[in-house]
Amino acid sequence: MSLAQLNVDQIKPLLAPLAEQARKLIGQGKVADYIPALKQVASNQFGVAVCDINGNVISFGDATTPFSIQSISKLFTLVQAIKIYDETLWEKIGKEPSGQRFNSLVQLETDHGIPRNPFINAGALAVCDRLESRLSAPNYQLIELLQKLAKNPFIKTNLKVARSELEHGSRNAAMAYLMKAFDNFANPVEKVLESYCHHCAIEMSCVDLAKATLFLANSGVDLNGDKILDRSQTVRINALMATCGLYDASGEFAFQVGLPGKSGVGGGIVAIHPKHFSICVWSPELDEFGNSKAATEFLKILTDELKISIY
Ligand code: GLU
Repeated sequence: MSLAQLNVDQIKPLLAPLAEQARKLIGQGKVADYIPALKQVASNQFGVAVCDINGNVISFGDATTPFSIQSISKLFTLVQAIKIYDETLWEKIGKEPSGQRFNSLVQLETDHGIPRNPFINAGALAVCDRLESRLSAPNYQLIELLQKLAKNPFIKTNLKVARSELEHGSRNAAMAYLMKAFDNFANPVEKVLESYCHHCAIEMSCVDLAKATLFLANSGVDLNGDKILDRSQTVRINALMATCGLYDASGEFAFQVGLPGKSGVGGGIVAIHPKHFSICVWSPELDEFGNSKAATEFLKILTDELKISIY
């Protein structure tokens, strides 16, 4: 299919049949349970929303149900940090795939406290530390950005999930202290952890996230027509999503799906087809890497069907 023709009208008839196929994997994965408040989510949910670069949105299934965005928040905190620090952000945060679990401590020690990339937990904590140094109200300012990008004033943090994460966040605290020991963390650990957990506990729907990530498909310009990032900053975020967005399954995702993506342990995955569309698929059960099983499957069969891997 010619990519010049790609719009939501061509994708729409595929949503229901492909969702039915992907839903067959429900029952084979496991809802995240290391954050107790997350394991209460009904595991049989499935939603998908697509937003094309003209701002048209289509959706199917549980696409307007808010869910915990978890690590998808790392994408948006990175955007905030790039806007403030630009190139200097990368002085002590890497840009390489980690090949390790998203919350691994081992690599951080051998890499002298420099996280491999901003999408693993250590890297996102370092990004939140940089934001803490420059923003007056990091939690509020992230919510404000998301409400604007998704054009939804009702987006908010689930405080019960945030509290649950904080109470069970010893690994994240360990990473932050390790970075502090290597002089790569400026602010009090507890303060940054609180922002980080609040960011992860934000709830958005597939429709919200497809809209909120549209600027990544549209050279940095959001649904409101506002420039969020310049073109070169945008392509670099997409490059990081392509290489590091699905933790240590990023290579497999590039191989099977062929789009830059970012996942979260709430079961959401956002993916971008530059110049064409943004998509969010959600289903809570995860595979062994922490990525949604049914959402990954849906994206794989969608890109197979339309032959739209970017590679
Ligand atoms: N809040 C989760 C954590 O810190 C995010 C993990 C994820 O979505 O990958 O472990």
